[in-house]
Amino acid sequence: MKILVLISLTLCILQIPLLSFGKNSFPTKSPIGGKTWGTSVKEIGNGIFVFRWWVYRNIFIITDEGVIATDPINPKAAALLKKEIQKRTDKPVKYVVYSHNHKDHISGGNVFKKDGAKFVGHANLLKELKDHPNPSSPLPDITFKDSYKLKLGGRVLELKYFGPNHGNSLIVMRFPKEKILFIVDIVTPRRVAFRTMPDFWPDEWIRSLKEIEKLDFDYVISGHGPETQPAIDGATIVKDQREYLEDLMKAVKNTMDKGTHDPNALKKMVKLPKYKNWRYYKEWLPMNIERIWAYYHMGW
Ligand SMILES: [Zn+2]
Repeated sequence: MKILVLISLTLCILQIPLLSFGKNSFPTKSPIGGKTWGTSVKEIGNGIFVFRWWVYRNIFIITDEGVIATDPINPKAAALLKKEIQKRTDKPVKYVVYSHNHKDHISGGNVFKKDGAKFVGHANLLKELKDHPNPSSPLPDITFKDSYKLKLGGRVLELKYFGPNHGNSLIVMRFPKEKILFIVDIVTPRRVAFRTMPDFWPDEWIRSLKEIEKLDFDYVISGHGPETQPAIDGATIVKDQREYLEDLMKAVKNTMDKGTHDPNALKKMVKLPKYKNWRYYKEWLPMNIERIWAYYHMGW
């Protein structure tokens, strides 16, 4: 009897990771950890892992039939990612999914290509990589326009395109069962937008976030964050990101409407105290303001 109880208790304990995706049960606060200029890997559960290299992150999932990896980041990070995957499984990497066209996220995939992995990305990404080849980024073998369901070993990773927002090939990945999104560049929690917002289209960015908010999800893994930030966050970070952009645009527009058109003056005048604790508030807010000034000045 005692043995039976013990066995069922052990089974219960073993199943905790499978059941821990319910609301409020996920440890979203603990940092991913590791050294700033190093890597760290955090197991989320159900075979899903977050890999960090410096402030870049990707996800991989180990299934019974092989591994789905995402953005290889760069040749150095990709080699480390491969090692981390091999520490955890002897199954091959079958797919590598690209989040978007930018080189700082999708270089280094060769290391998986030579082992036979197939590459997946948006149709626009194929064109962009053909127009601007990157010797360490294999071209996608599988492309799609609106959405795609990548299936392996009984697992599903949904890929969705929301139109232009940051470049014109960015996709959002979703684990439907675990209700987890992996979002690169267009959602970075508790940080103002990146510098002068390169290749970000402010209005399309906000529109995309509104559409993403309508998806069925409880958690978000974002493509950026230092070792001090958690591996996974609650769903609210998508809304937080949208509200930051809306507040930023409103504040810049209001000041311009009152007669200030000089971007240097705007950078001094516009403040967003609600976000003063977000990372890079002091350093990057003026650059964000300049980008929004350009949007209103040039209509783009
Ligand atoms: Zn990017």
